[in-house]
Amino acid sequence: MKPTVIIGGGIVGLFTAYYLHKQGIEVMILDKGDLQVNCSTGNAGMVVPSHIMPLASPGMVSKGLGWMLSAKSPFYIHPKWDRKLFHWCLLFYRSANEKTVEKSIPFLKNLGLYSKSLYHEFKESHSKTDIGWVEKGLMMLYQTSAGEKEENEFAVLARKNGVQAEILSPTDIQKLEPNQQVNARGAVLFPGDAHLKPAALYQFLQKYLLKNGVTIQPNSLVRAFERKNGTINKVITQNEAIDVGKIILCGGAWSAELAEIMGFKLPLMGGKGYSFMQKNQPQLQQASILTDMKVSMTPFGDEVRFGGTMEIAGTNEAINLSRVRGIFEAIKRYYPDFEATFPKQEDIWHGLRPCTPDGLPYIGPAPNLDNVWVGSGHAMMGVSLAPATGKILANLLSGQSPPLNIEGFRVSRF
Ligand SMILES: Cc1cc2nc3c(=O)[nH]c(=O)nc-3n(C[C@H](O)[C@H](O)[C@H](O)COP(=O)(O)OP(=O)(O)OC[C@H]3O[C@@H](n4cnc5c(N)ncnc54)[C@H](O)[C@@H]3O)c2cc1C
Repeated sequence: MKPTVIIGGGIVGLFTAYYLHKQGIEVMILDKGDLQVNCSTGNAGMVVPSHIMPLASPGMVSKGLGWMLSAKSPFYIHPKWDRKLFHWCLLFYRSANEKTVEKSIPFLKNLGLYSKSLYHEFKESHSKTDIGWVEKGLMMLYQTSAGEKEENEFAVLARKNGVQAEILSPTDIQKLEPNQQVNARGAVLFPGDAHLKPAALYQFLQKYLLKNGVTIQPNSLVRAFERKNGTINKVITQNEAIDVGKIILCGGAWSAELAEIMGFKLPLMGGKGYSFMQKNQPQLQQASILTDMKVSMTPFGDEVRFGGTMEIAGTNEAINLSRVRGIFEAIKRYYPDFEATFPKQEDIWHGLRPCTPDGLPYIGPAPNLDNVWVGSGHAMMGVSLAPATGKILANLLSGQSPPLNIEGFRVSRF
């Protein structure tokens, strides 16, 4: 029996393997890296069913243009003449309208809620494993009246779509952060959100899969494919040619180039972000987004992770210290008492979020190929949405109907 091969062992690839294995399917994961550090390990670890608004929204176009003028801003498109980048920007611009956003919201909402329910199931099945799950919501802090208007409007929209949202005053905020002053005009709390330790989850999944007979091959760059009568029958890596039954493309920010080699279009760009750890003193307690700077703050007991920026830069992995400084400066702006130290270069983590032009992931069969499926393009929600994506793909591959409507995630929609 030829194995089902998953290209890419990030969090989406691992969760897909997890559910395929549960269906009794023989799985092999190939990854070009060492599977120690990648986009799925150093992120903010937030599980956010409240994130029902896609990245490509009307506000992002006007805000993005302003942000592009600042070296420390949270959103940036690397200005270079590149046909694919130009095409992606055009599709992004076309998707950033109210009609498309309205259509996208139920898809993101249902996927997010389903994924969170799968996390609950996962935690119950592996109750002895500590993935650092904390379910006490996400607080969106704002400092300006423009931020207040935007976040409060979003709270109304969220409630209209059945997502719980509470507006907090500075006094309410201090109750959630009793150990230090928070400089904020107000906040919106999404009590249904959670956070976890992404590296702990990632390492656990790898160990679990290996122990249960899933083959995981690091340092196996996929370079080419052998195609026959509308199927891919061989995957060619830097080391060998592998006979395959089915393929699932979970290549993160590199999925577009892999799709191109296979022969189909998958508009997608890497959105680079950074994070770093700090000693958590005085101790911050409530996972938050510092919305004016789009910086995330995830407390993990004695340590805390700050992260942010979205540089649309293809697969360029160079570290831009001005952007890291932008994240760092947000800390004192919101938490003036926090004892922050600028991280050493080797302590700065970076990751490439796989960003689609409309902010919805690609989940489902690839066009014109009978044995290829895609699970990619989750942008800033890969951890959040990986269980649902994996479960949907496992259902599709074993001939069952998906547990929810996946039309919005159609791979050939552009
Ligand atoms: C600063 C920051 C904060 C974030 N915070 C959150 C958060 O709070 N919550 C959340 O849900 N998400 C968050 N994200 C997003 C999340 O990290 C990503 O969506 C997620 O990691 C993507 O997972 P993936 O499996 O699709 O891709 P990846 O983790 O990038 O995995 C893809 C894998 O494919 C492999 N690959 C690529 N090309 C090939 C090839 N040719 N051959 C073999 N292997 C190949 C790569 O080596 C890689 O390991 C954040 C991201 C950043 C940058």
